[in-house]
Amino acid sequence: MIPKIAIVGIPNVGKSTFFNRLIGRRQAIVDDIPGVTRDRQYGASDWNGRSFTVIDTGGFIPESPSEGIESAVTRQALLAIAESSFILFVVDGRSSLRPAEEALAKALRKTNLPVILVVNKIDLPQHEKLLNDFFKLGFSSIFPIAADSGRGIGDLLDHLVSQFPPAEEISPLKSDIRLAIVGRPNVGKSTLLNALLGEERAIVHHEEGTTRDPLNILVERGTRRIEFVDTAGIRKKAQTKGKVEKVSVLKAMKSIEKADLVLVVLDASRDMTAQDLKVMGYAEEKGKGILIILNKWDLVSSETHLKKFREHLETHYKRKDYIPMLAISAKTGRGVKNIYPWIDRLYENYTRDIGTGELNRVLQKAIQEVAPPTKSGLAVQIYYSTQKSSRPPAFILFSNRPKLVPEAYLRYLERVFRKKFDFVGVPIRWIMRNK
Ligand code: GDP
Repeated sequence: MIPKIAIVGIPNVGKSTFFNRLIGRRQAIVDDIPGVTRDRQYGASDWNGRSFTVIDTGGFIPESPSEGIESAVTRQALLAIAESSFILFVVDGRSSLRPAEEALAKALRKTNLPVILVVNKIDLPQHEKLLNDFFKLGFSSIFPIAADSGRGIGDLLDHLVSQFPPAEEISPLKSDIRLAIVGRPNVGKSTLLNALLGEERAIVHHEEGTTRDPLNILVERGTRRIEFVDTAGIRKKAQTKGKVEKVSVLKAMKSIEKADLVLVVLDASRDMTAQDLKVMGYAEEKGKGILIILNKWDLVSSETHLKKFREHLETHYKRKDYIPMLAISAKTGRGVKNIYPWIDRLYENYTRDIGTGELNRVLQKAIQEVAPPTKSGLAVQIYYSTQKSSRPPAFILFSNRPKLVPEAYLRYLERVFRKKFDFVGVPIRWIMRNK
């Protein structure tokens, strides 16, 4: 788990500036965390090699609250603690303490979470005497900062990340691959799951959360563990048709969100449907590694048939040629043994980090071969690239005119990268930056 840090405080103390400062050059708002609502903003950040997620609860308290500021702050605090392991409580160093802040402090103390008091708008060393007023809130960690200029933020972050649990405790399951098996009813998901588990040695079942439905199954394979998420729905036999179809899409979406890789199971003896494409589109949107399993191959078994599926996919679902398809029969077991090696490969691709040197050598060569097209007489240049993150791989491209780099050119770069680095099965993200 990546630590989550909540930013709380009354309006106008500079929370948003502070939030933006923390997520800094990464700029990307994390929007794929389950349960995101409009009253919170999530941002990815890191410091000294430690990643964390910052949550801005700022929008939560309206400027002129109709419900009364007291209950609004309490709710804000509750919201923050519900999902955070640290709290950054921001106050305005240039103004005196407000009753609402004292109320918030009280609510925060009750949470037993570590609270760091961040006194903002301390632009100069001589302003630091303004801190005195805030000691009475009773928090032992107090840091003066200026969110505008960034003054003091380094010290604050040093302190914050030093409080994090050791990295290995945060992600003990780092090399675990979380896998979702999705597909319409009767395509053979449960048969496939059994076939996959059948080969394996140690199997651990454990319940997740409070509901009984999502059952995750953990399989050990060599040095790596694979966690099949939400398998209860797969194992349970379908009740009523019609309704089941709809529910199965929602279930698939939920499972996809929890997974690194998604096996989209299709019945090869039937046509691919809009629903299958929708589920695949969702997995792609969420940046997951995807493998299409053409099951029931024992019923068809012909090369033309495989081609038909490929063509259908590429016609109805543009630029999906990076998604591999594997023909198997879960029932006879044919081809099932190929699935695990594919999972390994997809996971490699999903988590691949490419060194900046190599990345730019490949990029420069690609640019030399095909330069970005001139747009309305303006020369468009791409200077260099860095990999922003993996899971899925995301690359930042620095350009003089980032907005004028055409989509088709990014597709070209994508083809080059896929060829060079083997990103089969995973979507690639491009982030354009001005330079
Ligand atoms: P689920 O609803 O997706 O979990 O589908 P099931 O695993 O329950 O399978 C539905 C039906 O398809 C069952 O009767 C299975 O025996 C059958 N089935 C599953 N896999 C195959 C296969 O590879 N070939 C054939 N011929 N039948 C299969």
